Amino acid sequence: MAADLPTLRVNTPVRDLPGVGPARAAVFSRLDIATVFDLIRHLPARYELHHGESTVAGLPNEGIASAVGEVVGCRYVPGKNRMGGRSQGRFEANLVDPPHVPNPHHGVGPAARVLLTWFNGGYLRRQIHPGQWLRVTGKVQLFNGYPQIVNPTWEPVEPATPPSPNPTPLAPSPDHRITPSAHPRPEPVQVGPRLHPVYPATEGLGSNVIERIIADTLPRVLPTLVDPLPPELAAHHSMPTLAEAYQYVHAPEHDDQAAAGRRRLAFNELLLLQLGIAMRRAHIDRHMAAPALRHNDAVDAQVRGRFPFDLTLSQDEVVREIVADLKQTRPMNRLLQGDVGAGKTVVALYALLLAVADRKQGLLMAPTELLAEQHHASISRSLEGSRVRVDLLTAGVAPAGSPQRLALEAGIASGETDLVVGTQALLSDSVRFHDLAVAVIDEQHRFGVVQRSAFRGLTDEPMPAADGEAGPVKQPSPHHLVMTATPIPRTLSLTVFGDLDVSTIRGLPPGRTPIANRVVPPEKADDVYQYLRTRLERGEQAYVVVPTIGDATRDREEVPPSPDMSDTSESSSDLKNVHDHVKLLQQTYCRDYVVAAVHGQLRRDQRERIMDRFRRGEVHVLVATTVIEVGVDVPNASVMIVEHAERFGLAQLHQLRGRVGRGDKGIRSLCVFIADPQTEDAQRRITAIARTNDGFEIAEMDLEIRGMGDFFGTRQHGLPPLRVATIPDDLPLLQLARRDAHALIEADPTLEAPDHHLLRKVLLREYGEALGLIDVG
Ligand code: ADP
Ligand code: MG
Repeated sequence: MAADLPTLRVNTPVRDLPGVGPARAAVFSRLDIATVFDLIRHLPARYELHHGESTVAGLPNEGIASAVGEVVGCRYVPGKNRMGGRSQGRFEANLVDPPHVPNPHHGVGPAARVLLTWFNGGYLRRQIHPGQWLRVTGKVQLFNGYPQIVNPTWEPVEPATPPSPNPTPLAPSPDHRITPSAHPRPEPVQVGPRLHPVYPATEGLGSNVIERIIADTLPRVLPTLVDPLPPELAAHHSMPTLAEAYQYVHAPEHDDQAAAGRRRLAFNELLLLQLGIAMRRAHIDRHMAAPALRHNDAVDAQVRGRFPFDLTLSQDEVVREIVADLKQTRPMNRLLQGDVGAGKTVVALYALLLAVADRKQGLLMAPTELLAEQHHASISRSLEGSRVRVDLLTAGVAPAGSPQRLALEAGIASGETDLVVGTQALLSDSVRFHDLAVAVIDEQHRFGVVQRSAFRGLTDEPMPAADGEAGPVKQPSPHHLVMTATPIPRTLSLTVFGDLDVSTIRGLPPGRTPIANRVVPPEKADDVYQYLRTRLERGEQAYVVVPTIGDATRDREEVPPSPDMSDTSESSSDLKNVHDHVKLLQQTYCRDYVVAAVHGQLRRDQRERIMDRFRRGEVHVLVATTVIEVGVDVPNASVMIVEHAERFGLAQLHQLRGRVGRGDKGIRSLCVFIADPQTEDAQRRITAIARTNDGFEIAEMDLEIRGMGDFFGTRQHGLPPLRVATIPDDLPLLQLARRDAHALIEADPTLEAPDHHLLRKVLLREYGEALGLIDVG
């Protein structure tokens, strides 16, 4: 018996378990199971109701059940020869209650029966025959009104053996010489309905085997399991202990138990995540300090004087929130969200100029070179005639180690450079700031949380504690502002961005006319391009987005493979590409206009020249890949055509659409999605994008269509995926965990108390790297 074997430690390799061994351990590793702990954390995907054993007449119409009965007829049905191949044959048997068992017809008419079917069951011809008694177990379903079990497990039993496998020791042993009909059938011992776990399985390792190994392992490991949570926490929420929770999820006696066990495990997981987030925040508050920036009416007027327009009420409000942060030594950690085109850049520029006004440095990091170049150009325009030095640092302008890069780095290190705009290249070790006060990260969702903290401690000088403030010398940190046009549903912001303060720009700048949306099937594309001409004739400009670059660079920049696009059956050669599409438009519909291309494979100077000409109106139609998805801002462009729109994600379509509708001349922008959706999800995306222009609504729908796990993509949010908890279903639990985590960290910011020792260890192991907690100590 498993219970008699020695106890196991959670880190025992599964290889050492009875019935596993090296070969099976290799299969387990495909399920990411290496240790006993991994094994017990492999939770059932669902449960099947196991009804226990009954008479044949008593079988349920569905669910898993067992019955004992007599075989009355068998046959083998060979497979049919189909086109050279052979379909599988099947072996069938009828199992009936013996005559003494009362049947539903009160003894009149045929006895109750169940049809047993084994596919590929030819070998059973020599094993099962009429007159034999069997105990069968399997999933019962109705077939032509009769119960049927496909591929049941079976064992022969002695005729008239009581159906229960557990006869009481006092019961007289059945006399096998007496014929079944003469033998009074004992009352069946009711083995009540039982939930039967169904595990995620893999080839060569079925759910049943996993179930057996887990069932053998649980009693050996649970007694040694130590709960990292302080015991009062779970008890306070009337949750089972950790050991009970594992017992409940793997071998529940009823649904409620399974749910209670799962809830406890989900709570542990969410609490750890929230603790990690709270601990990082506490660390920053205690050990890091940012420069408190000077702000007054004169500075405010000076900064606003650089903007070509007045801020909207919503922008003003957000600026106030940011200024309040920047005046403190507590490093700002703020998320600025606002729909595409809402006007986030100018708010960021306000924060950056506040740093410059205080003779400190600011940086703006963008996810693409194109966007960085554009930000650099527009900020430089705003600051024309001033003494502010704005540099651009990307791998394109200044490859690592090049003389240009060295010169840029020298300017940044000496403080001659006031503002630097760039890509991830800014993160390289060789970039050291003289006095970085504000770091802005644009389109944050394109990076990941890990990078969010990368600018901490970029300057080496320790910072003296502020006047009158006792305590340790603090490390310098800039203020952080991260921006995103993919509004974060509240549910998600609590999990992933839990330590950020959030500001939201609502609405769009004045004078915008809502974009009109059209969905058009590919065979009507001709009408679309005919219509495009009438818009071009009125002096408007257009983007045409296609999925691939094509030509010599074919396949090098396709739509990134994303789970929600796997439904397309087209190969890349069936897709429109930039190269051919430019030719097509130039030679046909847009003969009298200038058509140009941008994509990720162009050299920077080529790309800048084309964008410049487009901005000045010298290029009328810009054919592009999704490089233009983020940030590109050309107000006169008022038409967007997206080819193969069914291939793009919902958030991506919304971003692309955001390139138009930016003018204030009252022109109604148009976005045409040429789409041939083949799947339900693709259809839902296309319907959603055409129905609303509201990015917040789009984000919620996106979450609904894609599901939580996929929303930001695990890689993008940089956290280990949740194993047990599911958002939004577990939102109340998440809030509970969040409250508890904050209380814990407030009482013990580094979890050093002996009671919290284990918690801290587990936390660092599970989330240390993802949350950058390693250096927290
Ligand atoms: P996003 O939030 O998508 O980054 P941008 O910052 O690029 O949006 O702003 C979109 C456009 O709106 C830009 O052309 C910008 O100059 C303009 N804009 C921003 N704020 C205002 C405002 N208060 N009044 C008029 N135009 C504005
Ligand atoms: Mg932007």
